Amino acid sequence: MASPHVVRPVEEITELELDHVASSVADKGSTCHQCRQKTTDTKTNCRNPDCRGVQGQFCGPCLRNRYGEEVKDALLDPEWYCPPCRGICNCSFCRQLVLCFLLSNCGGSWTACCIQQPCQVH
Ligand SMILES: [Zn+2]
Ligand SMILES: [Zn+2]
Ligand SMILES: [Zn+2]
Repeated sequence: MASPHVVRPVEEITELELDHVASSVADKGSTCHQCRQKTTDTKTNCRNPDCRGVQGQFCGPCLRNRYGEEVKDALLDPEWYCPPCRGICNCSFCRQLVLCFLLSNCGGSWTACCIQQPCQVH
């Protein structure tokens, strides 16, 4: 969560990285937001400039099993926002927070601002 989030344009995604999208769960490398497993495979890159830390990193199996999406498609989609940024993340961490669905609802700060109350009250 400490390192700043970097939005990577589609042009920067290499064939090599696409080849390393995991089809099954391995056990070291970067951390997947959903399963919190560290794996060496290529993960998603959220294009929301306000995304933070590992929030936008999903491994292949999680993205496919939980959201019916492919990491390859996400990496090549310049508009791809991670499930937490879309307010649809169902991981154990996010389920405890009610994340704001739209940035504008939160006055511009993209935080888990609504632990008890929905965004509309802001
Ligand atoms: Zn995962
Ligand atoms: Zn995101
Ligand atoms: Zn989540």
